[in-house]
Amino acid sequence: MLRTHTCGELRMTHTGLDVTLTGWVQHTRDMGGMTFIDLRDRYGITQLVFNMDNLPELCRESRKLGREYVIQVNGKVRERINKNPNLPTGDIEIEVMAFKVLGVSEIPPFTIENNTDGGDEIRLKFRYLDLRRTVLKENLILRHRMAMAIRDYLNREGFLEIETPFLIKSTPEGARDFVVPSRMNKHQFYALPQSPQIFKQLLMMAGYDKYFQLVKCFRDEDLRADRQPEFTQIDCEMSFVDKDDVLHVFEGMANYLFKEILNNVPANSFPRISYDEAMSRYGTDKPDIRFGMEIKELTPLVKGKGFRGFDEAEFAGAICAVGAAGWSRKQLDAITEFVRRPQVGAKGLIYVKYTEEGTTKSSVNKFFDDDSQKLWCEHAGANPGDLLLILAGSRKQTLTALSVLRLEMAERLGLREKKVFAPVWITDFPLFEWNEDENRFQAMHHPFTAPLDEDLHLLEKDPGKVRANAYDLVINGVEIGGGSIRIHTREVQQKMFRVLGFSDEEVQSQFGFFLEAFQYGTPPHGGIAFGFDRWVALFAGTESIREVIAFPKNNAGRDLMLDSPSYITESQLKELNIRLRE
Ligand code: ASP
Repeated sequence: MLRTHTCGELRMTHTGLDVTLTGWVQHTRDMGGMTFIDLRDRYGITQLVFNMDNLPELCRESRKLGREYVIQVNGKVRERINKNPNLPTGDIEIEVMAFKVLGVSEIPPFTIENNTDGGDEIRLKFRYLDLRRTVLKENLILRHRMAMAIRDYLNREGFLEIETPFLIKSTPEGARDFVVPSRMNKHQFYALPQSPQIFKQLLMMAGYDKYFQLVKCFRDEDLRADRQPEFTQIDCEMSFVDKDDVLHVFEGMANYLFKEILNNVPANSFPRISYDEAMSRYGTDKPDIRFGMEIKELTPLVKGKGFRGFDEAEFAGAICAVGAAGWSRKQLDAITEFVRRPQVGAKGLIYVKYTEEGTTKSSVNKFFDDDSQKLWCEHAGANPGDLLLILAGSRKQTLTALSVLRLEMAERLGLREKKVFAPVWITDFPLFEWNEDENRFQAMHHPFTAPLDEDLHLLEKDPGKVRANAYDLVINGVEIGGGSIRIHTREVQQKMFRVLGFSDEEVQSQFGFFLEAFQYGTPPHGGIAFGFDRWVALFAGTESIREVIAFPKNNAGRDLMLDSPSYITESQLKELNIRLRE
């Protein structure tokens, strides 16, 4: 190679050694008698010194090196006078004897530092420069380490990594498909997989009883919040298992990752909470259980005292902010403001301060006496010194608003500690949800999810009541993965399609091959898929999956570097037999 060592490698033990390094000029400091350059590569930063007294010509030349020039230097490792304890190589420097420019650089459009001055758009456009920054580099290294650990664990558990095709027929995961026109099959289109769901089930039918794949999935959704049109799943499936088996294997995988990657193992066994319980205790099926502050229903306690906000409400619920009775007017106004935002959607916020003296002060003192307010406090588990926050309205909306308020309060009280991880399984989801717009049931997970055995008899009679044999892994309020035990008989699968409103012809044309496969000996099976990008982001401590993807797209689904999607030529269109509509 063009180097003897990397820029992250040299230590005191190397002093006196002649070395050749290559890398990028991160920073130049001209000190008159000397020039210092920080030389950067993937492995770290090493300080170079050019000395005016010894090699004046060389030193003068070095001052012409701009940021991000790629150079090769020869020199001797020596102890530094001003050591930098923040750098692993901070005890040494290289006294440069000669150097060569390997690649010149324009002045980069933003500074290549962790705290860069570049906005999102410009950094996406010059992503290869952005990727030089240490934060992104560390995220990609973390991603690699996690992928290796996952393969390592699953391989040892006997899983086979099997690839499945990208050019397929639509898979119903509930999103819109990306489609690809077929040149050889005039007027016909492939769909890109929203997930390999059908294939992994077919692999079970084919006898490959433990499958996994780190795989790209494609969903043409509006990219609200933190989504990418293509993302990576750790997709897994197993035969001859029930729910407990699946949860056991993948809890093992999660713990292996916690240990290998973070050296931070949570409880051996992750708690399991049913969907119904999660909704009533946390107002969401993605609860952050790093802290308590559970929702307590107050409906029967608050009604009938003439306060319309409660009397007209279907539901009233409270959360208790421990130790926050001393919150100022300003703090309370700010949090009231917060719940009124359209994203939260509450009309107003009622607070009760349970003072250290054991009396109550609230925003509804006029309607309720001290005793009734104390009763609420006790019911919600508040102690003197705590603050009770109450929302009221329709049940569903209020629970959702409380779940958002709960997270916000935890944020404000510093309870969402980054280094603490609290995984939880959410189980027994409803099999269907009602689609108001289309006036029909749709699968909450996907149409291949099995109902709980005890609810099977309701499948056609009362679909809304049927619970699914499905589970999600949630860590710190983030849905990391989800899966289910699958339907494995043709009869039940057909019933499922019927409830979902498919006609027999539709079923035949879309899933005929799949139903046919059921007839040739299908083992009971189940699986799960994890959002790999999300998981990496969680471990990296970043909110956005973009920060852990080498070449992500922006919120409009565009690759700003490639300037894609883009128009194609008339001849390409012609070849595909496509005419564009105005
Ligand atoms: N295919 C499902 C998904 O992408 C996961 C699963 O059921 O295994 O959500």
